[in-house]
Amino acid sequence: MSDNPVREVAEGIYQIRLPLPFALNHVNCYLLRDGAGWTLLDTGLNTAPAQAAWQAAFDTLHITPADIQRMILTHVHPDHYGMAGWFYEQNHAPILLSPRERDLARLLWGGEGLLATAFDAYLHRCGMPAEQIPAVMEGLVFTAERTFPHPPVLDTLQAGDSLRVGQRVLRVLSAPGHSDGQLIFYDADDQLMLSGDHVLMHITPNIGLWPDNEPNPLGRYLQSLEALDAYPVRLALPGHKTLIQDWHGRLAELRAHHAARLQHTQMAVGAGATVYTTSLQVFQSQRFSPHEWRFAMAETLAHLEVLQNRGSIQQRETDEGRWWFSPV
Ligand SMILES: [Zn+2]
Repeated sequence: MSDNPVREVAEGIYQIRLPLPFALNHVNCYLLRDGAGWTLLDTGLNTAPAQAAWQAAFDTLHITPADIQRMILTHVHPDHYGMAGWFYEQNHAPILLSPRERDLARLLWGGEGLLATAFDAYLHRCGMPAEQIPAVMEGLVFTAERTFPHPPVLDTLQAGDSLRVGQRVLRVLSAPGHSDGQLIFYDADDQLMLSGDHVLMHITPNIGLWPDNEPNPLGRYLQSLEALDAYPVRLALPGHKTLIQDWHGRLAELRAHHAARLQHTQMAVGAGATVYTTSLQVFQSQRFSPHEWRFAMAETLAHLEVLQNRGSIQQRETDEGRWWFSPV
């Protein structure tokens, strides 16, 4: 990680850009001035370089983790949740997230191995060749190991709540799709959105149907984008990549992207296909890392689900226990 990871992006809000050991090589977290202390939004994946980046940020701001009096998580994917326990050990500050994300934290990071067994079967149903599955599973373990220590207590926030953070009042909004219970935060006075991984520039947020998802993540995501068009936003602060100046333009691009992707997916199903073979055609890539493969398949499955709900394609299960899609 180069030089200084911290910069002020709005009055009293500092973005901390933390390194990630993936193709998407960073995550944006935010420190918000909150009276005499600070509120933290999202935490990073727990690696030595990320700890060093936090230390550099604290030095710049002349604070310590003990000055953080509250931690909020947009969602529990490892790049956002992974250092919550590391912080908690230093400050015992409350960690707030939606009830659904709290449940997912238990399921994904609860340490009962639920994820490992269910995920293996899911990859098989998607039609991934057996010899590729161990590398994906190893990737999951690699990531999961970087979410330790886990915080012992998680508290909840509800969509519709308002939070006072320093001079700001943040309205809590539900933003499903990327993760079932993702929350984003809107400051109406400043027309500012803390948009999590719901609306990003340069990359489209991964909208996947995963083993533990509630149904129809892509349908819920598209509905949410439509609802968010009603909010005046001059600046959005996202979980990855650059700040968003043209909120409405970006929402329109994301909707257009998924409309085109749905068409493309429908064509790729052709006379019949697994999730894996459809992914190959839609993404035109044989060079995915195991980590990228699982995102490509989950994303493809989310699009197949919407097409199936529309009655454009049908699904059955093969004798080998794989999902099989074909035109109606
Ligand atoms: Zn993320």
